[in-house]
Amino acid sequence: MRDDNCIFCKIAGGDIPTNAIYEDNDYKVILDMSPATRGHALILPKEHYKNIYEMPEERVAGAFRLAGKMAQTMTDKLGADGFNIVQNNNEIAGQTVFHFHIHLIPRYEGDGQVVGWRPGESTPEELSKIKDLFG
Ligand code: AMP
Ligand code: ZN
Repeated sequence: MRDDNCIFCKIAGGDIPTNAIYEDNDYKVILDMSPATRGHALILPKEHYKNIYEMPEERVAGAFRLAGKMAQTMTDKLGADGFNIVQNNNEIAGQTVFHFHIHLIPRYEGDGQVVGWRPGESTPEELSKIKDLFG
């Protein structure tokens, strides 16, 4: 469950030193080396899964449970005003490191960062058709 060519496997496994702010048996939370804001961190599962599609449901659940806890702790300790939780899958969605991770991005008044998308347009018919895909 480990990929020898994967930088996040090496970091999560302790082969490469890093600034970890939390660790348990299954996850390590490290500071992002190119932070969007002060304290930007990444939740890494210790096992190698390329993305959310490949990860067992319990690991996904655990990662997002941890994201909720980290949002609380980090907001308190860093004095943040808000928080973004971001998780990219596949290149088209902005993923650049192909070992599942969750971005924890504390937000501060006036930080000037942009995390988001351009709002698009739809019609009631189109929204209804999409809904029908889910039965
Ligand atoms: P993504 O674009 O969602 O795949 O995010 C990858 C993130 O990993 C980026 O925010 C990078 O700055 C960060 N990153 C890449 N390599 C390292 C590293 N060695 N240590 C810490 N963060 C890293
Ligand atoms: Zn990996």
